[in-house]
Amino acid sequence: MTETNPFGGFSITIVEDVAPATGGASTITSSAGPVEAKVVIVGSGPAGLTAAIYAARANLEPVVIAGAEPGGQLMLTSEVENFPGFPDGIQGPDLMAAMRAQAERFGTRLVDADIDRVDFSERPFRIWARGTEYRAQSVIIATGASAMWLGLDSETRLRGRGVSACATCDGFFFKGREIAVVGGGDTAIEEATYLTRFASTVHLLHRRETFRASRIMLERAGAHPKIQIHVNTAIDEVLGDQKVDGLRLHDTVSGDERTMAIDGLFIAIGHKPNTDAFRDWLEVDAKGYLVVHDETGSKIDGVFIAGDVHDHRYRQAVTAAGDGCKAAIDAERWLEAQGVTEAATATSG
Ligand code: NAP
Repeated sequence: MTETNPFGGFSITIVEDVAPATGGASTITSSAGPVEAKVVIVGSGPAGLTAAIYAARANLEPVVIAGAEPGGQLMLTSEVENFPGFPDGIQGPDLMAAMRAQAERFGTRLVDADIDRVDFSERPFRIWARGTEYRAQSVIIATGASAMWLGLDSETRLRGRGVSACATCDGFFFKGREIAVVGGGDTAIEEATYLTRFASTVHLLHRRETFRASRIMLERAGAHPKIQIHVNTAIDEVLGDQKVDGLRLHDTVSGDERTMAIDGLFIAIGHKPNTDAFRDWLEVDAKGYLVVHDETGSKIDGVFIAGDVHDHRYRQAVTAAGDGCKAAIDAERWLEAQGVTEAATATSG
């Protein structure tokens, strides 16, 4: 089955029960029993696909369990202007399609399915995805984090058309425009402050009177001439046909309704790391992110971690990609030390 991504015209293939993978085809047989692999990479954002490129070039013949919606958060972004190598910018889905093609070129096998569960009690590690069992000598977890959304239909419809969850990615497109940021935590304050570089006015909308954000950041934002804070304000609808042109709001205390004319809405109500399948096996920190040891390691030898699933500090495509590279090199060296592979590969040196 082929589906078209609405943001970039990028087609993805949903693998069902298909032919065996040869020569880099992104398919895997699920009827012939467990699939054996030296390395299974879970996740297909910049971290997962960069790990795949490095692992494939090291002859590890990686299997990527890419998720039912492959490509990660960049699939929800329009233009990416801060990924090195693209002086004119690139559409997020196009960048992910290029990374995927590069991973496939070196023999990566991709399965567009979500994982159901894992068993990391012994090697080979076992992973189940859409009825198929994968047995891996090593695993790289690169499942990323998902921005939390308000859950409005109008918000979904206008994502990439004025609705964004990433000020660093999309702020530049709102030069001289009036925009809104929703949320009352540090992220919302930080994004609102960052966006004053571009926007003429930033309306910070928070559903309560009390903020979770640190006092100092809140005071700074409150004193900023371009930031207007609206408390007790909830969004009922994002207005606009082809692009955002306003918001329908209500006062959470009085119930009064009003509209606000804006060109962009930044959702900053938190991120959720995608760790559900791993929580029984690996450590998570107070915010629910996986804990890494020694750069990309986990508390289980042979299980490596890369990208936003552990990193809530940088959360950039390029840092995730760098992390994926590191995890692949660490996995390769670890496999070599276990005698699973031989030395001297493409990633060394
Ligand atoms: P957060 O602290 O959990 O705040 C999320 C905010 O979004 C809350 O104000 C919450 O409102 C609001 N919210 C949640 N769901 C909503 C919904 N459906 N509709 C409207 N509003 C909604 O998340 P965060 O701001 O992303 O911060 C996460 C962590 O990272 C925090 O520990 C923070 O300190 C840290 N952080 C630190 C920095 C920094 O130090 N520079 C920068 C960014 C983040 P309620 O308050 O009503 O629940």
